Amino acid sequence: MRTYLVLLGPPGAGKGTQAALLSQRLGVPHVSSGDLFRDHIRGKTDLGKLADGYISCGQLVPDEVTIAMIRERLSRTDAQGGALLDGFPRTPAQAEALGRLTQELGGDVRAVVYLRVPESVLVGRLTGRWTCRAQGHVYHERNHPPKTAGVCDLDGSELIQRDDDKEETVLRRLGVYRAQTELLIEHYRGAGLLVEIDGSQPEAEVTASMMAALKGRLE
Ligand code: AMP
Repeated sequence: MRTYLVLLGPPGAGKGTQAALLSQRLGVPHVSSGDLFRDHIRGKTDLGKLADGYISCGQLVPDEVTIAMIRERLSRTDAQGGALLDGFPRTPAQAEALGRLTQELGGDVRAVVYLRVPESVLVGRLTGRWTCRAQGHVYHERNHPPKTAGVCDLDGSELIQRDDDKEETVLRRLGVYRAQTELLIEHYRGAGLLVEIDGSQPEAEVTASMMAALKGRLE
């Protein structure tokens, strides 16, 4: 039986960082819709060109193309045991599609981890964020600076600010989150799947809280 976990929370809640750690510990791939779009943008594919227009101004890519991209990703062989989803679903239609898709693939959504972080903290986290050009490794000018300014510790490539991490776009992304994604919290709470974690704790404590909360649900 395939096991799917969802990480839910506003932009800047730390989903990407936590997902990378959790996927290693749980042995399922980290599937980030944002990373998949950014791969397409780097590769200059048709989907990348379409997505870029929405992403650079902080809007959501339409459901239909997003769902098709996730369907393809979850059908790959490395996701045979399930996956840890980060940034998907983000709308009620995507949540519904995920329910159907996981059933088709012979699994279910076992838990939805909601990383709760106050909005004032999010703006500072996002606007101080720097990402490596080559592979998207993430740094923060105050919370997690690279050893050498402007250079990725892991692959030596240049650090850049994502267009959508500029302040005006960050505020729009948070607005989109409140309008569309926040609805999913109640949806999953009602389904008994929601695991709520205080995402403003230090990184290692967030990971420990998640592992402890998930233990019973994954056995
Ligand atoms: P993220 O890295 O998760 O913050 O995603 C960056 C951007 O990609 C978002 O602001 C959206 O424009 C787009 N995106 C990522 N995931 C989705 C999704 N599930 N549905 C629609 N758009 C998405």
